[in-house]
Amino acid sequence: MEERKRALSAIKPTGNLTLGNYIGALREFSKFQDNYETFIFIADLHALTLPIDPAFLRSNTKDIVAFYLAAGLDPNKTTIFLQSDVSAHAELNSILINYVYMGELSRMTQFKDKSQKLNKEAIGVGLFAYPVLMISDILLYNTDVVPVGDDQTQHVELTRDIAHRMNERYKKELFKLPQAIKPSVGARIMSLSDPSKKMSKSDPKGDIFLKDDLNVIRKKIMSAVTDTGHEIKYDQENKPGISNLLTIYASLSNMSIQDAEKHFEGVTQYGEFKKAVADKVIEVLEPFQQKYKEILQSGIIDKVLDDGAKKASYIANKTLRKVKKTVGLYIHE
Ligand code: ATP
Ligand code: MG
Repeated sequence: MEERKRALSAIKPTGNLTLGNYIGALREFSKFQDNYETFIFIADLHALTLPIDPAFLRSNTKDIVAFYLAAGLDPNKTTIFLQSDVSAHAELNSILINYVYMGELSRMTQFKDKSQKLNKEAIGVGLFAYPVLMISDILLYNTDVVPVGDDQTQHVELTRDIAHRMNERYKKELFKLPQAIKPSVGARIMSLSDPSKKMSKSDPKGDIFLKDDLNVIRKKIMSAVTDTGHEIKYDQENKPGISNLLTIYASLSNMSIQDAEKHFEGVTQYGEFKKAVADKVIEVLEPFQQKYKEILQSGIIDKVLDDGAKKASYIANKTLRKVKKTVGLYIHE
C-alpha cells in the first residue's frame, strides 16, 4: 500500500482562541484527515515563550482539545496530542538549535512583533529560539504539508531551509522538506477594532473569541471599524475593515471573495452588511459552541490525549533516533 502523505499543525495555548484561529487553522485541519495521515497537537511548550498564568494555560489547553474535536477532528483519523507529552520535541530541539543561525532567527517577523512590546533586557531566549522548536515539531514527523495561516508561513520556510541544510551537511535525505498550505480565503483575519493589525489571541483588541456569548459576537461585529464609504467592495488598502468582514463572510460561506462581493451588490448600508456577517458567524459558531460544551462534559479529553501521545511518540522517537545516529550521538541497544 502506498504510504499516505503527512499533514501536521498546531495551535499554541497562549490565549483564548479567536475567530482568526478558527478560520485560518481550526476549520482547515479536519479537511486533511481523510486524505493525509494527520497530526494535530497543542503547542503548550510554545505557550511559555511569553509570561502566562499556569491555571489559565492548563484550562486553555483542555479547551483547545475540545475545540479540535468540535471542529470535526476525529481521534480515529487524526493523532491529537500535547507537545509536552512527547519528549522527542524537546530533544530534537536541543540538537537542531545548533544548526539554526542567530541571523535567521532575528529576521523572523513573529519575534520582531512580539519582542517589540517587551523590555529589551527581559526578552526570554525561548521567544527568540521559538522557530527551532517549531522546526523540530514539523521535522519529527517527516511532514509533507503544514496547514497554517499567514503568520506562520515564514517559520515553515525556515523549516525547509534547515531540513535542506541538514540533508546537505550529512549527505542523505534525513528530513523531508515540508510545505505550508494556506487557506485560499482567510489566511490573515484582521482585528475588528483595528483592521491594520492581525487578529491575535495573545494580543486581542476587542476581537471575537470562540467562547464569546453569541450576543457579544453580534455586538462586536456591528461595531467593527469600517470606512466612511458605502460600497461593499474588497479593497485592502482603502477599505481594510470592509475587506476583512467580507473575507470572514466569504470564508465561512465557502465562497470566493468575488462571489461574496456579488452577493452584496446593491447593498449600500454598512449596517445591513454587518448584520449579514454577524448572522453568518453566529450560524457557524452556535453549533460549534454546543459541540464544544458537550465534549468538555463528556470527559473524553484525557483519553484522546493519552492515545495521541502514544502514537505520536512512537513516530517521533523513530526520527529522533535516526537524527541522533546521523549526528554522531552514540546509540546503545
Ligand atoms: P499568538 O498571538 O500567540 O501568536 P495567534 O492567534 O497568532 O496567537 P497561533 O498559535 O500563532 O495563533 O497560530 C495558530 C494558527 O492560527 C496558525 O496556523 C496561525 O497561522 C493561525 N492564525 C492565527 N491568527 C490568525 C488570523 N488572524 N487569521 C488567520 N489565521 C490565523
Ligand atoms: Mg501567531
